[in-house]
Amino acid sequence: MTTGGKPRSTILDAAGAAPGGVLVGLSNEELSEILVEFGLPKYRIEQLEAALYHQKVADLAEVTTWPKDLRERVTAAGFRVGLPDIVETFRSVDGTERYLIAGSDGQTVETVWMPEGDGGEEGDSSSAGPHDPGQKAWSRATICVSSQIGCAVNCQFCLTAKLGIIRNLTAGEIAGQVAAVLNRQAAEPGRDRINLVFMGMGEPFLNYDAFMAAVRLLAGPMEIPESRMTVSTSGIVPGILRFAGETVRPKLAISLNAPNDAVRQDIMPVTRKWSIAEVIDAVRQVPLRPRERVTFEYVLLAGINDQLQHADEVVKLVRRAKFPAKVNLIAWNPGPEVPFSTPSAEDVARFQERLREQEVPAFLRRPRGRDIYAACGQLKRTAKPEVLSV
Ligand code: SAH
Ligand code: SF4
Repeated sequence: MTTGGKPRSTILDAAGAAPGGVLVGLSNEELSEILVEFGLPKYRIEQLEAALYHQKVADLAEVTTWPKDLRERVTAAGFRVGLPDIVETFRSVDGTERYLIAGSDGQTVETVWMPEGDGGEEGDSSSAGPHDPGQKAWSRATICVSSQIGCAVNCQFCLTAKLGIIRNLTAGEIAGQVAAVLNRQAAEPGRDRINLVFMGMGEPFLNYDAFMAAVRLLAGPMEIPESRMTVSTSGIVPGILRFAGETVRPKLAISLNAPNDAVRQDIMPVTRKWSIAEVIDAVRQVPLRPRERVTFEYVLLAGINDQLQHADEVVKLVRRAKFPAKVNLIAWNPGPEVPFSTPSAEDVARFQERLREQEVPAFLRRPRGRDIYAACGQLKRTAKPEVLSV
């Protein structure tokens, strides 16, 4: 049924729902509201919710818990599932897959699948062939999810920044990336160990409402425990403060990337808006769950932030923060026309050791899918990856 020729879903645009009668991304309450003229009892909405988020159907015709005539009436009124499509897949030698996923306007976003466990080293580093879900070569996996197309934050070392901000993603496009990848991998969160990191393209806290609406769908009907989700922010203080008030929320990671404001301002201009101290003060407002730690991410850039005196400054910062924290070190992943270099493995190890010997837990993040531009900071919709001279 339409209002002035348009599906009713347009009434939800302001809340971040995709236009065009798209249902995926809507909560139970929003589905009831949007389908109100069909006079559906509560259980019909629940059946639709299960089909969208549990079965992850691609078409209303597959909602077999609904009578055929209801599916047809809702379709005729201009509604559709609107699950995003994987339009291109790149497979790395390390088993990582990078997908280009089409948004509702044909713009693509990137999502990365990182399997762990047996057989993850297979692959041919080119466009992947047909997937055989019968051959499950992983025991757990992490999906790296995008929150925007491009990014406005302009960190100097990040390839995504080169795109600028193109647009926000809707809740359906954010949760839909996960649904599309789970379908492709025949993965079931209730059975398989799936972690999510909101560390793809974009700054989640600059698309806060849609990002959190997606989290509620993922943690609710999509059955991914919030404790297996991590969101990373460049330090958007108003977003961190809102996040502090959420009851269902991922774990928090802060992209620190520098030992002090002076270095950080050079590589992350957002520091001029919010200093490291202001970011840390905001994080202190987030009530942590038992055993939860905040992660500080730290991209090591040769000669810029990777010296031992920088490690000592990081130790002081972490101590002053006074909340349980750990540091994730990432050796910089290269990209064309990004004027930095990757530190040597020895320098990375020395930096890590310096933190550890002062009792700051420090872990080294293994780069995944560098050969296909899937690693941190490399997401720029690169369609034809060239061989990298790393
Ligand atoms: N915008 C958010 C989340 C996406 S970026 C944020 O910045 O936190 C995810 C992580 O990748 C961040 O910690 C960021 O600092 C890091 N990163 C960006 N570019 C990188 C690169 N070229 N090599 C390694 N890590 C990079
Ligand atoms: Fe945006 Fe994160 Fe890249 Fe900075 S590191 S430009 S915040 S995606």
